[in-house]
Amino acid sequence: MVDDSVFSDVAPQFLPGWEIVVGLEVHCELRTKTKLFCGCANSFGREPNTNICPVCLGLPGSLPVINEQAVELAVRIGLSLNCTVDESIFHRKNYFYPDMPKDYQVSQYEKAINENGYLELPLSRKIVRIERAHIEEDTGKSTHVGGDNGRIHGADHSLVDYNRAGIPLVEIVSAPDLRSAEEAREYVSELRSILVASGASDGKMEEGSLRVDANVSVRQLGLSEFGTRCEIKNLNSLRSLVRAIGYEAQRQVALIESGGKIIQQTRHWNEDQGVTSAMRSKEEAYDYRYFPEPDLVPLSPSSEWITEIKGRIGLLPASRRERLAVLFDGVSSGSTFDQIVTAVNLGLDDLIVGSVESGADPRLALARATNEVAGDLEKLSNLTVEKFSDLIKMESERKLSATQAKNVLAQMLVSGATALDIAKAMGFEALDSSVIEDLVDQVISSSPREWERFSAGEDQLAGFFIGQIMKLSKGKADGKVVTSILRSKR
Ligand code: ADP
Ligand code: MG
Ligand code: ZN
Repeated sequence: MVDDSVFSDVAPQFLPGWEIVVGLEVHCELRTKTKLFCGCANSFGREPNTNICPVCLGLPGSLPVINEQAVELAVRIGLSLNCTVDESIFHRKNYFYPDMPKDYQVSQYEKAINENGYLELPLSRKIVRIERAHIEEDTGKSTHVGGDNGRIHGADHSLVDYNRAGIPLVEIVSAPDLRSAEEAREYVSELRSILVASGASDGKMEEGSLRVDANVSVRQLGLSEFGTRCEIKNLNSLRSLVRAIGYEAQRQVALIESGGKIIQQTRHWNEDQGVTSAMRSKEEAYDYRYFPEPDLVPLSPSSEWITEIKGRIGLLPASRRERLAVLFDGVSSGSTFDQIVTAVNLGLDDLIVGSVESGADPRLALARATNEVAGDLEKLSNLTVEKFSDLIKMESERKLSATQAKNVLAQMLVSGATALDIAKAMGFEALDSSVIEDLVDQVISSSPREWERFSAGEDQLAGFFIGQIMKLSKGKADGKVVTSILRSKR
């Protein structure tokens, strides 16, 4: 997914005298083998309505059996988000949309498995409270055909695919602690990293593995009471999240300033037009006629099991950042730290740490990873720690210039060949300094007047000589070596 788009293409967000308040509900599909209550595979992209069975279709007489792996992954999420993990129960949430063949969704309502946690934003160091992270089953997927932008209004007909019905989800509900679209972005980015590192999710926003609903309200600066909120449904990239919050806050301020009143609503984000529009007025809990699921017993993970699960959680982002920061005197802010945060968000930290362990220069490894490798992430599987560290070492030892190293790395991501082989094939064997020295001498004797001026102190002529030598060497000479030879000769 990683969509690191910055703020720039977003409508102006500066709303003088107003404060934005945001709370996020993030739905995370769990990486289990099977669905939450049946043996159907947890898979994406199959032919519609082929990955279903009597249980996930809710046929009469079928009974749910809870998936142990899903519960474990939910516990991993809770522990990773500093929640209290405790006994919980399931409810039926009843409704009349056709995307759930049972006409209800099984969810945790009164008592969630994970409650009262928090996460810390890496850049702003802000603590964002997590109210709850509960287990529920995903619904099927409706597609409305022939109407306006996929909405049911004005559609000719609707299609429904139940393959997704019953896929295990954890819904992570934040407190209304976020105060800007940018903070919301940082929160989702960090949460995503935590979900991936804990092993609970593949983090693929573009495949719908993570879906965000944003609750947005505005209030006049200085007021302590919250304004009325609207909930924007199903934002599936960081870019949409930022744009939707920005738009919605401006809409609300404009409405209030012109004497209007915000009504609590569920709203739809239109990516093409960059606007939100009303979908329906907010449901109240009683609309759903919640009642305890009679076919499932309360879920009570033992403390022994929870301890075992804790031991299986991988290294979380905060520890991963620390592990990188020690390579840079423990930095905790500034541009190097920003790069560290990016490296961990993109899952590049193992590559960097591994290459440094085998002797690569940390700064160069961090730079090449967060710039060049980050630009071609889908080819990451072609890169091994060994190949990457060999490349970094060749650059540090000046066997490759910076430009050459970037070219070799780009090729390495495509083909998976070694740095040495690629450099040879590209004719990038850097020139020996004795060869460079010969070239320097040639250029000096062919430009005696310029050399006299350079020797007399006209430093700006260095560029002239470097250019000539580079031309003669067909770009293979290392600029730094050329410069030092030039200076030693005058
Ligand atoms: P509901 O059950 O109706 O969805 P919740 O209390 O569970 O309501 O809140 C849902 C989300 O809305 C939470 O993420 C919460 O932080 C957020 N939220 C609540 N009040 C506000 C508000 N005034 N402005 C922005 N977000 C809010
Ligand atoms: Mg809610
Ligand atoms: Zn099934």
